[in-house]
Amino acid sequence: MPHFIVNRQAQSNGDHEVHNKTAGCSYMPREANQKDLGYHSDCHGAVREAKRTYSQSNGCYYCCNACHTG
Ligand SMILES: [Zn+2]
Repeated sequence: MPHFIVNRQAQSNGDHEVHNKTAGCSYMPREANQKDLGYHSDCHGAVREAKRTYSQSNGCYYCCNACHTG
């Protein structure tokens, strides 16, 4: 299963982006800003986990496109 992280720092629109670390997304935040989300079979589970911490979480357009909204 892929390993996901969420950016501790919000984007300008307030979104905390979820990234697939296993896929090696080039838009991954630097290590210090990565909050571990653990392993999920798909990005939907990862975004659900991220929302427990950051209610405004969103999948990265590039590596979690199926979970990207807006
Ligand atoms: Zn990404």
